[in-house]
Amino acid sequence: MIDALHTIATLARSADLLAIRDTLAPDRVIQDAIAIQQIPAPTFAEGQRASALLERFRQAGLHDVAQDDLFNVFGRLPGSDPTCPALLLSAHTDTVFPSGTDLSTRQDGERVYGPGLGDNSLGVASLLAVLDLLRAHRIQPVADIWFVANSREEGLGDLGGIRAVWNRLRDRLGAAIVIEGMALGRIYHAGIAVRRLRIACRAPGGHSWLHFGQPSAVHGLVQLGAAITAIAPPAEPRTTYNIGLINGGHSVNSLATHAELFLDLRSEDPATLSTLEAQVRRAADNAAQPGLSFTIDVVGDRPAGQIATHHPLVKLAAAALDAIDHPVTYERGSTDANVLLANGLPAVTIGITYGAHAHRLDEYIETVPIAGGIWQLLLLTLSAAGQLHTWGR
Ligand SMILES: [Zn+2]
Repeated sequence: MIDALHTIATLARSADLLAIRDTLAPDRVIQDAIAIQQIPAPTFAEGQRASALLERFRQAGLHDVAQDDLFNVFGRLPGSDPTCPALLLSAHTDTVFPSGTDLSTRQDGERVYGPGLGDNSLGVASLLAVLDLLRAHRIQPVADIWFVANSREEGLGDLGGIRAVWNRLRDRLGAAIVIEGMALGRIYHAGIAVRRLRIACRAPGGHSWLHFGQPSAVHGLVQLGAAITAIAPPAEPRTTYNIGLINGGHSVNSLATHAELFLDLRSEDPATLSTLEAQVRRAADNAAQPGLSFTIDVVGDRPAGQIATHHPLVKLAAAALDAIDHPVTYERGSTDANVLLANGLPAVTIGITYGAHAHRLDEYIETVPIAGGIWQLLLLTLSAAGQLHTWGR
């Protein structure tokens, strides 16, 4: 930690960065975040937002600016040492809000409200802020920095965007920093394993009075749901489940022919997650009966992986927070970094400010911490780009 603190403190005192510190304009970042947030970007439909970012990457003079079929947007800032592996700096563009959602924003004192503003328009705006600052002050990092605005982080996107980013850049990367708008103070250094199942139940159907007692898909599904909620997963390693969605039936006086639920399973330990999934599958086998069947599809599979809190990247992230006098919380979670960590790439996910009500219409961000949040991101980015060639994979 001493080394990392020294590295960050030296960088923060350098003439280049002191000049930047005086010009940090959080209002500009907030305006950018709102402009990005105003462009609808439901998961799988990020195209319009991607086009806007493609244009921004071009205007900033990045090299190798490109967009792939999944609406990932790429641009490279060349480093001074072409032999050095590159740093990936990424933020996801997609939101959980379907098209047609009212995206209006409002400011109330030190808060700005808007669906998707913190998660993750502010993250994307921070990516642009770092890019603009480096360009405006003609600061060249040691390693190449790949700026990436990626798709498909949320929900059923299943990290498909960052998977494609990894496949495209895997041979070039040495480390990654993933930006999440509202996670200031938290350093995600470990990705938990996540499995998502769609469990569908089918039955022949019939009349609620005439055919009472015959199988119903809704009855079968709620019985299975009861069996699932009776499972007691271990607290250590932390393991959870959630039935997040349930649909089915077609009329109040019909035996349902079809019903389904979506189940989210998570664990710090992949083997424990497999055990939990096996319990669920056994419960479905037990709930099946003549005329009543269950089918299970895996609709999400997020891999696990981690680096230690004493990894140099995590230490730099902690030292960057120390530079803004912010305490550190080490986190395990499910972010784009999961895919990178699972593939052995050192990666952290960090934040820019605080906020609340992510994935709700009344989501908001706090404006005051943003300047510090951008500063720690910039310190971490430049220090990581300067050191990552010594880390190995
Ligand atoms: Zn997010």
